[in-house]
Amino acid sequence: MSLTVSPSLPALESRLPQRRELATEIPGPASRELQERRAAVVAAGAVSSMPVYAADADGGVIRDVDGNSFIDLGSGIAVTSVGASAPAVAAAVQDQVGHFTHTCFMVTPYEGYIQVAEELARLTPGDHAKRTVLFNSGAEAVENAVKIARLATGRQAVVAFDHAYHGRTNLTMGLTAKTMPYKSNFGPFAPEVYRMPMSYPYREENPELTGPEAARRAITQIEKQIGADSTAAILIEPIQGEGGFIVPAEGFLPTLAAWARENGVVFIADEVQSGFCRTGAWFASEHEGVVPDLITMAKGLAGGMPLSAVTGRAELLDAVHAGGLGGTYGGNPVACAAALATLETMRELDLAGRAQAIEDIVLARLRALAEELGGAQGPIGDIRGRGAMLALELVKPGTTEPDPETTKAVAAACLAQGVLILTCGTYGNVIRLLPPLVIDERLLNEGLEVLEDALRASR
Ligand SMILES: *Cc1c(COP(=O)(O)O)cnc(C)c1O
Repeated sequence: MSLTVSPSLPALESRLPQRRELATEIPGPASRELQERRAAVVAAGAVSSMPVYAADADGGVIRDVDGNSFIDLGSGIAVTSVGASAPAVAAAVQDQVGHFTHTCFMVTPYEGYIQVAEELARLTPGDHAKRTVLFNSGAEAVENAVKIARLATGRQAVVAFDHAYHGRTNLTMGLTAKTMPYKSNFGPFAPEVYRMPMSYPYREENPELTGPEAARRAITQIEKQIGADSTAAILIEPIQGEGGFIVPAEGFLPTLAAWARENGVVFIADEVQSGFCRTGAWFASEHEGVVPDLITMAKGLAGGMPLSAVTGRAELLDAVHAGGLGGTYGGNPVACAAALATLETMRELDLAGRAQAIEDIVLARLRALAEELGGAQGPIGDIRGRGAMLALELVKPGTTEPDPETTKAVAAACLAQGVLILTCGTYGNVIRLLPPLVIDERLLNEGLEVLEDALRASR
């Protein structure tokens, strides 16, 4: 099938040649040697999707230690939206480490932290007074958002949803839905976490169920099982990440947010994966005009440096007593410098607009492929997502039965052909596409061709 796509992604300069190139078998000898050393010293529970080891990465490519160049459709899980070695980020990091790497913001503060907070106050939805506190990981941001909501409301219950992913610390494991591999045998989990039904249009028993109706279904359960006056927070990913890139039906999020507001419940949007231009807007909440009380952010924020944030209503964050929020490394100055350069790069290159253009390119191709493979009777059950956060849900042809085996095989086939593709989903049957937002258009199309061929061959 030939598909002509008029160029819609402005060309960008890059340091590494933006091409796929297989120099050895995959994995090559140098990667195999590292794999052996790793097995002797690295914990077996910490696994990698790729059997190859990185040597360099830039724009839309990752080069491994054997000289193979892969097309990156994963961005280190939605982190390197500006590329893995964006020049402005690299320069900002180099400049900052030459001055100081750390003082601890709780001991000797510095301007970079304040600048990041100023940026986040501007960029996050809503024009109310906001405050920010910085941490290192997404899980830490979620933990702290829950701490803030509980303290500010004097209530304890936290509502999370089916298919949710919020991290791997004790509280965030409890907030996460899926047991394997995240939770199994790691309990007991923190109390006062209540799981509610998500809006999952593709798998809804009643396909006519609207977003507001799906929200009422959850709200009724919250009222019956917890009681609004015991509920501190509703915590939700506006587009679910690890759970399968599930986009709730239109009206679901606004209805939940409105109920939260009417009942003094803190509405927390976990935008750790969906934030920072990934979905074609600065934040996924914006697509439906939702203004969260608190937003948790991390992955795309600092161009690969570990930095996370909670930004939200001043009265909520400022309710916390002096010293109640912090951490040794939170808001590290190098990470803050990287974040400022990242946000500047996102603005300069209009990466939100670029994410929208990526959506157009990818959806047109995937929809054509789904038709070619049999439409509703074929293996592609659903195509969904926003911007450059897009997914395919694979099923046994003619059914809605999840097909995790084919999903795994397709991802492995892509890898063997030099294209890094990640999977996700409660049922392990979702192929997710998270290209760096700076990816070259030709490279993106080439990566999609490899994916399409792998899907054709999997039948
Ligand atoms: C990745 C992720 C987290 C956890 O972030 P870490 O930095 O891995 O702790 C939390 N929430 C969402 C939505 C995520 O995608």
